[in-house]
Amino acid sequence: MIIVKTRKELEEKRNILKKNNLLHGFVPTMGALHEGHLSLIRCSLSNDPVTVVSIFVNPTQFNDPEDLKKYPRNPEADLNLLEKVLRTGDLVFLPGEKEIYPEPDHRIFDFGILDKVMEGKFRPGHFNGVAQVVSRLFDMVQPRNAYFGLKDFQQLAIIKEMVRMLNLPVNIVPCPIIREPDGLAMSSRNVNLGKKEREEAPMIFRTLKEAVSQKGKLPVEKVKEWVISRIENNSSLKVEYFEVVHADTLQPILSWDEPGDKQGCIAVWAGKVRLIDNISFSRKKE
Ligand code: AMP
Repeated sequence: MIIVKTRKELEEKRNILKKNNLLHGFVPTMGALHEGHLSLIRCSLSNDPVTVVSIFVNPTQFNDPEDLKKYPRNPEADLNLLEKVLRTGDLVFLPGEKEIYPEPDHRIFDFGILDKVMEGKFRPGHFNGVAQVVSRLFDMVQPRNAYFGLKDFQQLAIIKEMVRMLNLPVNIVPCPIIREPDGLAMSSRNVNLGKKEREEAPMIFRTLKEAVSQKGKLPVEKVKEWVISRIENNSSLKVEYFEVVHADTLQPILSWDEPGDKQGCIAVWAGKVRLIDNISFSRKKE
């Protein structure tokens, strides 16, 4: 693999790829890599002649400065891991902040109703920061395919909308959620969980799965109440929101009879660590 740190080096490598007609796939990450990230990378490796992985902890998407400070960073371990999976010609882009933001980004994106709910409601400005960094990265990397995890369900909807609004020639590829053996969705933040929090955190996905089996038997509101109380029976877990939404518009459903795919999305505080997860209420099994 080739490590590049500046926008200029990246452009040079990208021009060589273009000259050789090599199309590339792109996996943007914030590092502290785990199997979830690797699954996206493997997907690109099997689809694209060249894979580009970026590692950049984007300050503009953190609405809470404490969260940015605590965000796990482990560049050496990340590079060791990438060395094992990437091929000779694949690229790792490790930019500093000045490479991405040589000047402050004042753009405000209008995502309409998509960012007024769930993560957008509880983390004001988060998706604007995501759109700022991803649009800049797309501009620099110019990939054919870009891979995003369904773990960040709302983020995926926002990115698709951004690509549509800006008319970008990038194909967005959604990838399944990778979980620990006990069901906890993998996340860079999991390393910050204390012992008790880590023991209780798998209740989140266990409860989501049980909620799906109650679909149609109990009204939506009752299922929502049940999910919150069951999770909060664990003393270290506090639910920030649980919504069952239309998978495309992200607007809450009022009744199971409404047409279209439905997704249950949740954010839970496990002590001081914020975890998110989601599940399909339409597909047979997760
Ligand atoms: P992050 O480094 O947290 O910004 O995540 C980078 C990419 O990895 C995003 O597209 C995430 O949705 C994806 N990702 C993170 N965790 C998982 C997971 N457990 N399973 C699948 N994809 C994931």
